[in-house]
Amino acid sequence: MKSDTTSGNAPVTRDPAVAAATLRAGRLVAFPTETVYGLGASVAHPEAVARIFAAKGRPAGHPLIVHGADAGILDRYGRDVPAAARTLAGRLWPGPLTLVVHRSSAIPDAVTGGRDTVGLRVPDQPLALAMLREAGAGVAAPSANPFGRTSPTTAAHVAADLGDRVDLILDGGPCGVGLESTILDLTTVPPTVLRAGGLPAELLEEALGGAVRRTASGPARAPGMLPAHYAPSARVVVADDPASAVAEALAAGRRVAVLAGTPPAGLPRAVATLVPADPGTEGYARALYDLLRRADALGVQVVVAVPPPAGGLGDAIRDRLRRAAADQAG
Ligand code: AMP
Ligand code: MG
Repeated sequence: MKSDTTSGNAPVTRDPAVAAATLRAGRLVAFPTETVYGLGASVAHPEAVARIFAAKGRPAGHPLIVHGADAGILDRYGRDVPAAARTLAGRLWPGPLTLVVHRSSAIPDAVTGGRDTVGLRVPDQPLALAMLREAGAGVAAPSANPFGRTSPTTAAHVAADLGDRVDLILDGGPCGVGLESTILDLTTVPPTVLRAGGLPAELLEEALGGAVRRTASGPARAPGMLPAHYAPSARVVVADDPASAVAEALAAGRRVAVLAGTPPAGLPRAVATLVPADPGTEGYARALYDLLRRADALGVQVVVAVPPPAGGLGDAIRDRLRRAAADQAG
């Protein structure tokens, strides 16, 4: 098949019933969630699930998250589900939290790369929930971007990246959170955060009334959590104080932008600034991937990224910036 990654010719709908019918027919639908856009296939159609990997260029061993409309997915797709999973689902679903539990026989091997566990999530997005209610089965979906690249947070991002490889795009507007879900493994005691994300670990601990193990700064534990990921074409340099990194890049003749949560002061005029429209860490998270794409659209060669303070959603932003920066090393 001819592949033109910029053609973006998939049909777009705002009707979740049309999206659900497309999934029931065994076809691929990109859909909005509160985190990022997903590239979905019904778990009742393993051949459609296999097409997700081909469309993304994603290695087959990387497991997909299965999405459903309510906590019933814990019993439908999980096995030996621990009480802690039910507690978290009851308190934090719908929301940006993926729970990893042992999988039931209703989950085909293609979804989990043969693993005995499955990641489950109920997204907090009205069109996604309406689609999932009518899809007839769980919807396996990774983020709707080519493997290793920046996740999409608008339907236009999806169309630009994968528009010729999906059968339909459900347009629900920009994503409210803008970062991938937090992934919590409930097959360990205590539960382990495999990926920092849209639901801060502090809230998990509050809901559980106890500590979770965090691996954010340790080696990647979740399969598919590579050190190099989420990257734009521009080189990303993370710096608390951008001045010297900016000076170095300018001296090397590079086109430079500074990405920061608030407008940085005292930069040379040649330096573009990429700043979120909304204030605070939440605004930074929501805008992050769009700003990284904007750097590429501006032809910037080096992005000097100022991380937000650690803690809460800041941990997930810092994690993504680190991985975007690691891309150039590997
Ligand atoms: P994406 O939605 O593109 O961020 O990809 C889904 C990610 O969820 C994978 O790369 C894994 O890191 C994680 N994941 C999904 N299922 C499992 C599982 N059964 N065990 C551990 N991690 C999982
Ligand atoms: Mg992804």
